[in-house]
Amino acid sequence: MATKQLAVGIDIGGTNTIFGLVDRDGNILAEDRLITTHYDEPGIFVATLYEKIKIAGQKIGASAELMGFGIGAPMGNINKGTIEYAAGLPWKGIVPLADLFHKFTDLPVLVTNDANAAAVGEMIYGGAQGMKNFVVITLGTGLGSGFVIDGKLVYGHDGFAGEIGHTAIKPGQSNRDCGCGKKGCLETYVSATGLKRTLLKIMADSIQPSELRKYSFDELDAEMIYDAAKRGDNLALRAFQHTGRMLGFKLADVVAYTNPEAIFLFGGLALAKDLIFEPAKEYMEENLLSIYKGKVKLLESELSTQNAAVMGASSLIWSHYLYQPKINTRQDGKLQ
Ligand SMILES: [Zn+2]
Repeated sequence: MATKQLAVGIDIGGTNTIFGLVDRDGNILAEDRLITTHYDEPGIFVATLYEKIKIAGQKIGASAELMGFGIGAPMGNINKGTIEYAAGLPWKGIVPLADLFHKFTDLPVLVTNDANAAAVGEMIYGGAQGMKNFVVITLGTGLGSGFVIDGKLVYGHDGFAGEIGHTAIKPGQSNRDCGCGKKGCLETYVSATGLKRTLLKIMADSIQPSELRKYSFDELDAEMIYDAAKRGDNLALRAFQHTGRMLGFKLADVVAYTNPEAIFLFGGLALAKDLIFEPAKEYMEENLLSIYKGKVKLLESELSTQNAAVMGASSLIWSHYLYQPKINTRQDGKLQ
């Protein structure tokens, strides 16, 4: 039987850590999870995680050859293999994640943030296959971005390139506080939380009726606003319109910086489809330099939302072998 090469994709989140063993075509052959918050000590976390991966690998059988560990984590630094000052995780300061893994394995261990992992995932398994220049915007509770230029993900000098979620939407003109400590960041408008904040602002300024007026800020979520918009609730529609416009305005800048073939939207808000895509497209086009007009595709991610984090993380390994085939690899690929 032919040996099947598998990459381990690990998504470290504030609550759960999920991993999967993924083949080159994006099929997840085994998966499991552990509760991130149960581990105060990162060394014990990695040892437990490694043990679980080993067990999952054994279930697949001797025909599986592991190629490496790709990890998506907040504040993941590809250059150093570290997680640095991630507010949402139980570990303080700088966590030497790759070094902790290398106590158990000589295989490549690659760490980056989830938006970068999503961008590589789109390139390896998704709608960006064959594209050399594109951008992925992840729209969850925050806004992340990953840039691929000339076929390679842009990591930057310190490994933290592509934080457009924390660039200002109207420099000096918005007082909306961001979790990063700045004001008026794109993420405070274009994210599930941003949509909610915008809706409440619109409700405060308007006297029009809305089915959402009876809910408090804490009770509301993006899905409720989506459902109301679908039923024709005018204020919910205006909240989506505003969110899409803010995004489109920023995407026009993104195009000027990187001249992408396509921009992919991924995550919760992207599932609102036309409610987000139409205003984003319209406002992007309106603000593009004429040399770019009508040329940039605004597309839905082709990674399934459910597995995207694990798939994106695993794709780091395939991408690594494409570009650095001789670095940091073992011949036998066996778990030690
Ligand atoms: Zn910010």
